[in-house]
Amino acid sequence: MRAANTPGAGRTGHVVVIGGGIAGLAAAHRLLDGGARVTVLEASERLGGKLRSGEIEGVPVDLGAESMLARRPEAVELARAVGLGDRLQPPATATASLWTRGGLRPMPKGHVMGVPGDLEPLAASGVISEEGLARIARDRELPPTPVGEDVALGGYLAERLGREVVDRLVEPLLGGVYAGDVYRTSMRASVPTLFEVARSGRPLTEGVRELAERSARRQDGPVFMGIDGGIGRLPLAVADAVRAAGGEIRTGAPVRELRRTADGWTLAVDGADGTDGPPVVTADAVVLAVPAPAAARLLAAGAPAASAELATVDYASMALVTMAFRRADAASLAEGSGFLVPPVDGRTIKAATFSSRKWGWLRDAGPELFVLRTSIGRFDDEADLKRDDADLVRMSLADLGEAVGLAAKPVASRVDRWDGGLPQYPVGHLDRVARIRAEVAKVPGLGVCGALYDGVGIPACVGSARKAADELLDSMAATLEPGAGAGERE
Ligand SMILES: Cc1cc2nc3c(=O)[nH]c(=O)nc-3n(C[C@H](O)[C@H](O)[C@H](O)COP(=O)(O)OP(=O)(O)OC[C@H]3O[C@@H](n4cnc5c(N)ncnc54)[C@H](O)[C@@H]3O)c2cc1C
Repeated sequence: MRAANTPGAGRTGHVVVIGGGIAGLAAAHRLLDGGARVTVLEASERLGGKLRSGEIEGVPVDLGAESMLARRPEAVELARAVGLGDRLQPPATATASLWTRGGLRPMPKGHVMGVPGDLEPLAASGVISEEGLARIARDRELPPTPVGEDVALGGYLAERLGREVVDRLVEPLLGGVYAGDVYRTSMRASVPTLFEVARSGRPLTEGVRELAERSARRQDGPVFMGIDGGIGRLPLAVADAVRAAGGEIRTGAPVRELRRTADGWTLAVDGADGTDGPPVVTADAVVLAVPAPAAARLLAAGAPAASAELATVDYASMALVTMAFRRADAASLAEGSGFLVPPVDGRTIKAATFSSRKWGWLRDAGPELFVLRTSIGRFDDEADLKRDDADLVRMSLADLGEAVGLAAKPVASRVDRWDGGLPQYPVGHLDRVARIRAEVAKVPGLGVCGALYDGVGIPACVGSARKAADELLDSMAATLEPGAGAGERE
């Protein structure tokens, strides 16, 4: 936390944050804390971006992201800072399954992103065939596989362990985070601990066993955390804290143009006629907290090299199908929080989350109902997303019927589509981010943050927002009173 300051005192100037998702709001919160005057401009009428609360049959649910990693502190710290500490709630059950090889099978323990450290639980789970298990064991005999500065996770693992473990275990787990293609995803960016083992040249399974044991020994609380009422509450609470600290937040305010002037920035806001705020806003500094296509457009004139890099970022789209059943109709559902589905099995759904079982707050809010949600679509596998909502519900029900014998019709359903939901991290992603940041750093009073930089998860987005805010505060303080920037942070 930065040193306390008079709310909105403007000691370090006026910062405009473009984008009111969790990254933009977290940046605004941090900037206010550091003494800046802050305005947030959000294009849509709703704050939160990919974090969104809603309802089904009167029961609150998350319609986008639903949980946050608690082993990384940033998001949980932010939730506490904005008064949601009492509402933090770990999942009631975190036992997931895999629907593969004709049945629901327990997720084997002792793996890192699906890479097994121990073959025994993997063999017992039945996720991998006898031949697949034998192929994994060959890892110990193979000469080291060079990884260079980065390597595609899927290709590397297939060479070490065979394709079966990649397709049935690693791919669905990675898909749950990036909705990506494991054969294109950067190992260094997506699973850095695994990359370090790979770089050391030692047998992968041996290194993974150590990583898994170390992680199991850590007794520092739940791995994941939710929020009573939904993760969608987090951006709204941050927005309240931003306003309380003197920050201004405008929704329905898409920034169309960003121009660098002699002493700051001029922003043109689309559609604004002065009633909800001026159509032209000036700022001493700007934080861009928008997805890559918007960032590329806005930086085309002021930072063309960064803009060109941003234009290369691909996104995966997906849809979430949320359904409410009568609780009695779901009584015979399999144990656990849900299941993942390897794309190689050719099903429609990629995952199913038994939300009423996973979240105690949701079960308590709708004790007569059983809420679950399925996820459809991932990078380069988006054909099903062209179907209408009724089709997506019908196809989800068909898969659920086969996977867990759920035959009942839901009493309510809704489909939420996330076009361009998740940025992809291909091989070389970290170098691309370094190049973007280097170009951005050349432009005074400019910061960037959000899902496309240091990780797509909520804590990583908050972390990138802190970094952008702190760097701007330091540079502005140094400009206003030379020598004053450093050393203010705890
Ligand atoms: C379906 C789904 C489920 C997910 N589940 C999880 C999960 O369970 N746990 C987890 O940790 N992560 C999850 N994620 C990832 C995580 O939610 C996102 O990566 C994160 O919320 C992105 O935040 P952000 O602020 O970077 O971007 P966004 O949320 O995309 O916010 C960017 C904002 O900028 C605005 N904007 C765009 N252009 C302009 C403009 N020109 N002017 C002004 N505003 C503009 C947009 O309207 C948007 O509100 C999930 C993502 C998706 C799509």
